[in-house]
Amino acid sequence: MNEIERQKHILLIEDSPTQARYAGLLLEDAGYRVSVAPTGRLGVEKAESESPDLIMLDVVLPDLDGFSVCRCLRHRLLHYVPIIMLTEQRTAIEDKVGGLGVGADDYLSKPYNEREMLARIASLLRIKQVIDELHGRLADEHQSYQALKRIALVDQLTGLYNRHYFSEVLTREFSLALRHGNPLACVMTDIDYFRDFNTCHGHLAGDWVLRNTAGLIREMLRHGDVIARYGGEEFVMVLPMTESHSAVELGERVRAAVAAAIWHHPEFGALEITLSIGVAALPLPDVTDPQRLLACADQALYRAKNNGRNRVESFIVQERPSSLPAAPARGATRQ
Ligand code: GH3
Ligand code: MG
Ligand code: MG
Ligand code: MG
Repeated sequence: MNEIERQKHILLIEDSPTQARYAGLLLEDAGYRVSVAPTGRLGVEKAESESPDLIMLDVVLPDLDGFSVCRCLRHRLLHYVPIIMLTEQRTAIEDKVGGLGVGADDYLSKPYNEREMLARIASLLRIKQVIDELHGRLADEHQSYQALKRIALVDQLTGLYNRHYFSEVLTREFSLALRHGNPLACVMTDIDYFRDFNTCHGHLAGDWVLRNTAGLIREMLRHGDVIARYGGEEFVMVLPMTESHSAVELGERVRAAVAAAIWHHPEFGALEITLSIGVAALPLPDVTDPQRLLACADQALYRAKNNGRNRVESFIVQERPSSLPAAPARGATRQ
């Protein structure tokens, strides 16, 4: 049954059993499903729990009056539900204006003409249908937008953020750290001899190990730290509020965990790798832009490679960053 064919549900908030019965029969004869709440409070509860398609609301009720109930419903219900207020006694213009003012869609006197009432109900249900469809379409569009956003920010192989997003995060964190005088660490990792690993085990095994390594490192980070796949087999992290020595400690824990891990692939068998890691952290003299900080971490990584790999090095101020990191392929020249 589609949305149009579905039997519509009307909630009657009505304290008079006679009037509730009368309206109930009229509505059921017209093909609607009906439920009744005899007080204002119960009416609000049922409106929330039953999600009716339309509410008929008596003005004079034993607890809350219809105006308060209407205001409360408009405040609490997240989706649009048409409300028709009905009254025998409060039929003055001020009452009608007041009822429409607190969110009723219609305000009618009792006794009402049955055909007119059914026509008004049908008209409001048509409007609700259009609004619901619009909501559905907006929700779909939001979902597609989120999916696209994910594709734009996330690396497909590892599920980590990509370099583009990392650069945005680093820029943001860098200016925050400078403004508040907080430390900020940048950690770069590069898998050792990964070309040889691929040659030995094949690219599929290489991809599998890359995914596992990414997952392992991610698990070791704090909330607020961000890790991204910087290039082929290079990961980069930005650690807000982290001083150099703490970043080196983290780097050491990551290095040791990766070096100790043996991944058992059903086809490729036991696979192991090691990482070289470079660390640089603010405050650093002359480092006034995020790319410079990245260059310092990259330079420390370069030294980790030169000093024998499977090790962590931090940037030494006297070194001065020689160049900005270039495309990921530059690692191929490391010896
Ligand atoms: P080094 O110790 O100096 O880092 O040596 P290396 O062989 O790891 O050299 P480099 O860092 O330049 O690594 C580049 C190699 O990483 C090239 C390629 O074989 C491998 N690689 C890069 N991206 C991927 C990928 O997505 N999947 C796989 N399987 N391998 C990749
Ligand atoms: Mg009443
Ligand atoms: Mg490498
Ligand atoms: Mg590399």
